Amino acid sequence: MANNDLPNGFTGYSRKKPQGFQSAADAIRRNASGVGVSRARGGATPSPWGSSAPSGGANVPRFAVPAGQKGGLGTNPLASLPVIESGGALANVGESVIGAREATEQASPAAAPAPAQPRSCKAVYGSRGIFAYADDELAPDGSPLFDPAKLATIPETDRRWSWVEVDLTAIRHNVMVARRALTKGAHLCAVVKADAYGHGAVQCAKTALSAGADYLAVATVDEGIQLREGNVFAPVLVLSQPPLESIPLLLAYKLMPSVYDAQFAIAYGEAADSFGVDAPYHLALNTGMNRIGVRHDEVVEFLRHVSFHRALDLVGTFTHFATADCPETLDFQIQARRFVEAIQAMVDAGFDPGIVHAANSAATLRYPAVHFDMVRFGIALYGLQPCDETRALADLRPAMSVKARITDMRAVPMSEGVSYGLHYRSPGSVIICTIPIGYADGFRRGLSGRTDVILKGRRCRQVGNICMDQCMFEVDMRSSAMRTRVEPQIGDLVTLVGREGESIITMDDLARTLDTITHEVAIGFGCSRMARVYK
Ligand SMILES: *Cc1c(COP(=O)(O)O)cnc(C)c1O
Repeated sequence: MANNDLPNGFTGYSRKKPQGFQSAADAIRRNASGVGVSRARGGATPSPWGSSAPSGGANVPRFAVPAGQKGGLGTNPLASLPVIESGGALANVGESVIGAREATEQASPAAAPAPAQPRSCKAVYGSRGIFAYADDELAPDGSPLFDPAKLATIPETDRRWSWVEVDLTAIRHNVMVARRALTKGAHLCAVVKADAYGHGAVQCAKTALSAGADYLAVATVDEGIQLREGNVFAPVLVLSQPPLESIPLLLAYKLMPSVYDAQFAIAYGEAADSFGVDAPYHLALNTGMNRIGVRHDEVVEFLRHVSFHRALDLVGTFTHFATADCPETLDFQIQARRFVEAIQAMVDAGFDPGIVHAANSAATLRYPAVHFDMVRFGIALYGLQPCDETRALADLRPAMSVKARITDMRAVPMSEGVSYGLHYRSPGSVIICTIPIGYADGFRRGLSGRTDVILKGRRCRQVGNICMDQCMFEVDMRSSAMRTRVEPQIGDLVTLVGREGESIITMDDLARTLDTITHEVAIGFGCSRMARVYK
């Protein structure tokens, strides 16, 4: 720190603003006056389409065929196929009648003005098969034909036959496991970032807190806001330092940032001061992971630089291990030692480090010496083992399972193929069953032909390429004749991840097949469009 670079006692280093520096107070003022403050984002760039053009390109005419005219797709192999007559217009096979109609409307808006605002759920097909809006469709008794309240009662699991099941009692159990493992006096921070690793942030946060967790951690400001809006009032730590522009949100929603940058710290303190509130934060130390944080041997210098600010409140100091889940322990020991030395240096220089924390799930279970004042329990909270080394140490219970129901099935004759590419060929004597789950639901395409599903307690091979929204599996009728015969039926329950009778398929199985970690697999399912069901 340069000696002439001294704090002025209130507004910090505003006399010496670096190029492009914008204090939080500036940001707030600009926000209030409606002037954009998005320096870093693309939002300020004028759209080449002008201000009224929708970004999705909805005004761009599709390659629809004008009514009564054949398409100009000279090379279309379907062009010689018969055309379908519909609503007085001729459309090529494969052409959407609706698309053609829309294109016609756009070509002559006066003839058929589009409704100013598409109306909610009451779009119907008119008698000519043409899309129309009917806001006031009534049943003969005068009641609404489609009562929105009744429509809303159709469960998500009956809208699509695939879903994620989350067992909150398993999460409760895993919190107990963690608490039993904790050294005396250490607190438990439940890491609920990424929508609680796909398990649902608000539900998991509430469950973990009621089972004895004290603290919550998220990755982003919006994840923190989601917790507050879900009526979660425990302390929330954001495990990153968000952009300066988000500071008012941190203060308004009482979210503590991780801090490692002096400019951020001072802007945060200034903003808090201007609102008349405190600016609590956790200091992030880099002890070897080299992701975020103040270097472990520069922490005292950093604190001398920022600590003058009266609103800044150092609530905790933490680091993160790069190799807590690795068999080799030397790098872990080096990080742990650097962290302890940094904390000692802080204390020696007269700074109170607050809540000292370092351990993720793997370190919590493997290394009680680094529990300090708090541990950050993530993956293990959801019942997934952080690494092989922890299997013998903790009896965790997986909370997530993935289920589907059979939507179609057929006997596929010998040597016929299944799914895109037809790479799987039927050996005969198999029933191919279809389930509505695909890679857009986290059932990664890389698992194609490399995983099983469980039907009535029996493992069946997933076969053929996993599609975006569906996939197939094989029920071998010969081998099933040897044991209890499995006769698949449409509507039968299928387990893709979880236990059914004696059979079990784990996130670990899928993660190993995909050469990744369970975090990614669970988030893939849990953060997809699939419904989430709690039990
Ligand atoms: C995600 C995260 C954790 C939790 O890690 P797990 O391995 O899931 O327990 C802890 N600390 C930090 C800083 C993290 O980013």
